Amino acid sequence: MKAKIILLPGDGIGPEIVNAARQVLDTVASKAGHEFTYAEHLIGGIAIDETGNPLPEETLKGFEGADAILLGAVGGPKWDDPKASVRPEQGLLGMRKHLGLFANVRPVKMVPGLEDASPLKPERTRGVDLVFIRELVGGIYFGERGRFEKDGKRVGFDTMIYDEAEIRRIVELAFRVARGRKKHVTSIDKANVLDSMRVWREVATEVGKENPDVTLHHQLVDSAAMRLVTHPSEFDVIVAGNMFGDILSDEGAVLTGSLGLLPSASLREDHVGVYEPIHGSAPDIAGKGIANPLGQILSAAMLLRHSLSLEAEATMVENAVYQAIADGLRTADLGGGESSLGTAAMSEAICERIERA
Ligand code: NAD
Repeated sequence: MKAKIILLPGDGIGPEIVNAARQVLDTVASKAGHEFTYAEHLIGGIAIDETGNPLPEETLKGFEGADAILLGAVGGPKWDDPKASVRPEQGLLGMRKHLGLFANVRPVKMVPGLEDASPLKPERTRGVDLVFIRELVGGIYFGERGRFEKDGKRVGFDTMIYDEAEIRRIVELAFRVARGRKKHVTSIDKANVLDSMRVWREVATEVGKENPDVTLHHQLVDSAAMRLVTHPSEFDVIVAGNMFGDILSDEGAVLTGSLGLLPSASLREDHVGVYEPIHGSAPDIAGKGIANPLGQILSAAMLLRHSLSLEAEATMVENAVYQAIADGLRTADLGGGESSLGTAAMSEAICERIERA
């Protein structure tokens, strides 16, 4: 197949790891007979430096006709002033809004061989293989908000608001994802207290009835926060609103203890998506050639699966990553010590395993 992929390297280690992932995509393309073309554009701090805008017009134009977007990371000390009116992360928020990306998908998988990196006991994390699906453009982060003074005291408020269409599209996505996995959806809410969450539960129940091949389980967010630590391997697909998904997915990210390894996707109804590792731009190690490229490479695997429907190729990349770890290959952040591989050597190792597969 032919596909047009936009590369947004961004800041810090972004350019190094995006380059590594591109090599992997090229290896997949030549092995499986696909033709991927790339166009690179600016976002984040580097875009501010070069154009004054974290999401330049030219980058937005570049998205037209693209099948998928591979993003590194944005930000760094140079642009960290929270009072600055133009900041790198505005590029990310602007892009999500411009593209209408309503769902964030974050898989968390315990990779055999890395159990020691987890803060939990190995018997707890063995077999963890779950996916968070977080609603990205609604809920309390976008409801009516404000601050005022009452009786001489400062008051602030935010509103959690969801309509049934917003709930339905994210829950339906969770069911579609679950269908390709262990066929189990856990819908997170706080229906015992919040009206918005009672509507959430009603709609999730309706979607569950329409999709009887997938089992649905409702869980209150507080109890889910505990169960994620005590029984993480029981989960398959977890679907949640914006704020609960934000918090639980960060809790989930530390289960495996390997930040450099976790990918994510932001999706909309058609096939276009943005794929990026969940970590930041790691300015402390930028330019040293030691960044772990595996989170970016696994994000490229998600791109193959969700945007290009190349399931076999996505699995090929994932298996190459798991095989490299099983073979004992480690970057410094994975505890590689003296024998750590740098970014280029690790991506080379993944490409070799794809070629051999
Ligand atoms: P970070 O994820 O960049 O780094 C945290 C720690 O993990 C650092 O010690 C870093 O060296 C290490 N690390 C992260 N990714 C790694 C990798 N691939 N290989 C090896 N080590 C890795 O988080 P931070 O330090 O809090 O943030 C740094 C900058 O990144 C900030 O400007 C922040 O705003 C930005 N940020 C961007 C995104 C994004 O682009 N989506 C997300 C989070 C943070």
